[in-house]
Amino acid sequence: MLNHIIRPNILAQTAYQIANIPNDFIKLDAMEVPYQFPTELQNQLASQLATAPINRYPNPATSGLQNELRQAFNIPEHAQIALGNGSDELIQFLTLLVAKPNATLLALEPSFVMYRHNAELFGLNYVSVPLNPDFTLNLAATLAAIAEHQPAIIFIAYPNNPTGVPFRRKDVQAIINAATGIVVIDEAYGAFSSDSFLPQAGQPENLLIMRTMSKIGFAGLRLGYAAGHANLINELAKILPPYNMNWLSLTAAKFALQHKSWIDQHIAILTAERARLSHEISQLPNTTVFPSQANFITIRIAEAEKVFNKLKENKILIKKLHGSHPLLDNCLRITIGAPEQNNLLINILKKP
Ligand code: PMP
Repeated sequence: MLNHIIRPNILAQTAYQIANIPNDFIKLDAMEVPYQFPTELQNQLASQLATAPINRYPNPATSGLQNELRQAFNIPEHAQIALGNGSDELIQFLTLLVAKPNATLLALEPSFVMYRHNAELFGLNYVSVPLNPDFTLNLAATLAAIAEHQPAIIFIAYPNNPTGVPFRRKDVQAIINAATGIVVIDEAYGAFSSDSFLPQAGQPENLLIMRTMSKIGFAGLRLGYAAGHANLINELAKILPPYNMNWLSLTAAKFALQHKSWIDQHIAILTAERARLSHEISQLPNTTVFPSQANFITIRIAEAEKVFNKLKENKILIKKLHGSHPLLDNCLRITIGAPEQNNLLINILKKP
């Protein structure tokens, strides 16, 4: 019966799969940070959560989180901030914001799968521009697609997921200059990158920079944010569900940002580990490591499926990209773990 009621384009989809991973597995599949607060900070956080006014609806404005974000990440004064229940939610509502008949969403491919998913969900035309085989940006093809389709919204992950490869800043700037619709620079991995468009948020009016707490240690809080021009943020505010953020996340995120040195310390460890892991893996036979500016590396390795399974048998879970896109043949994505986790991974990869 539901088949007649539910929209056919949703019936045709499969739900986002969240793997149930045994506790003794090393989880290097989802760009999470492997560190948790030390006990002392956990206790401090617990006491703040205990007194959070959870009998009341949450109010981001009085939570102080926006100011904390502004200071922690140098968000320019001219920009306004929208909060989302994960940046996933912001992607969803930004897409809804422009979902008129015949509107187009443009994204690069391979990139974050939710851009396409949301285009399909809200009935936008989806136009994808393939990356070059080395996962760099094909500027000429992208500009041609913009000229042809005049997308209402463009999503660019900078650095890109699932490849990690940085795009040239001037290419991204050329896309911003050419676009007549909204341009979302999705800097989910920005904390691990040497470059950012955050200082330009809202300049021009159609440029939005999106970030998340997920990749810097707090995936469980579900807290994403977007910085942009007041005109755009005000429109977005009209369609975000009221009370989409909850007191516990708002409180914990604010606490986390007040301990930014702890966050930065771990970003530094993971960034150094990225270099070490990239070097070690590049020594393996028949293996290419793509340069990464994110907290993961993407590799191409002979018999990727076997390598994936070998790691899994040894209780290390990574992400198999092979089979998900023609450009990702024999590719695997490895989240950077703590040094001892990375050592185990390297040892297994080195074993014949
Ligand atoms: N953007 C990109 C490029 C991502 O890779 C991800 C997570 N995989 C997200 C957004 C969503 O992040 P979250 O909803 O956890 O903030």
